[in-house]
Amino acid sequence: MFYVKSKMNGNDKASAEIAVEITDENVYTRCPGCGAEIPVDIVEDIRRYEDFDLFGTSIFCNNDCVIKYKKKRASC
Ligand SMILES: [Zn+2]
Repeated sequence: MFYVKSKMNGNDKASAEIAVEITDENVYTRCPGCGAEIPVDIVEDIRRYEDFDLFGTSIFCNNDCVIKYKKKRASC
């Protein structure tokens, strides 16, 4: 099993640490177009997309957001 560990905010003495197991149901990302939360089947997506990259891959909620995002980037 894989899990993520994170320190809760607080000073050193009061900080607590949580560990959460990564499953195919608790990984989420946000659409770069509209910010909507999207559930990700991380196991399936890594298997399906050869160049899947946890830090560089974006998932859009729909095609309209892809178009909006590309327009926004093109105008910068
Ligand atoms: Zn979107």
